[in-house]
Amino acid sequence: MPDLKVLLSRDQIAKRVAEMGEEIARDYRGQSIIFVGVLKGAAVFLSDLARHVPLDATFDFIGVSSYGNRPTPKEDPAGHAAWDSLGEVRVTKDMDNSLTDRHVILVEDILDTGLTLNYITKLVEAHQPKSLCIAALLDKPSRRKQPIKAKYIGFTIPDVYVVGYGLDYAERYRNLPDICVIENP
Ligand code: 5GP
Repeated sequence: MPDLKVLLSRDQIAKRVAEMGEEIARDYRGQSIIFVGVLKGAAVFLSDLARHVPLDATFDFIGVSSYGNRPTPKEDPAGHAAWDSLGEVRVTKDMDNSLTDRHVILVEDILDTGLTLNYITKLVEAHQPKSLCIAALLDKPSRRKQPIKAKYIGFTIPDVYVVGYGLDYAERYRNLPDICVIENP
């Protein structure tokens, strides 16, 4: 059985997500926004975050996957290095709405190497939005390969592999209410 150690409790997450929502609501007061969630990991975060933003808002989602299979920490003989995105990202579900002239908030579960968000940001910019920013629940700045910065960050965490609150390990654990470090997976 894998060992799951709570890194961020559901209470810590709820408090921080509420603060992030209030910050967004202040910054975009009087404006309409569109939240674009990156599937699947950001779905849980987006649904909680958006309920703390009492503005005129719509949702959209983009699905992406890295080319090739990203090894899980267990399969990766070189340790965690190969959790990296492979740099080439493939869109598995495009956005449904035009983002032209919209205030877009890209919602991501975790900002790691930055390769995924670098790719998605370029896609969104091609729509010529009125503004674009990133809200990431977690940030692992020590792993960054692309100079991507999120305007809103929930928690900065060390270089550990986490699951829960939308984040998976081989598609499991997304439904855990806490964010946990997974050991011996
Ligand atoms: P990046 O392109 O920034 O390296 O990768 C971002 C994506 O990698 C995240 O959306 C997530 O799918 C995955 N990822 C990065 N670190 C972790 C982690 O600690 N746990 C999980 N479950 N996924 C991660």
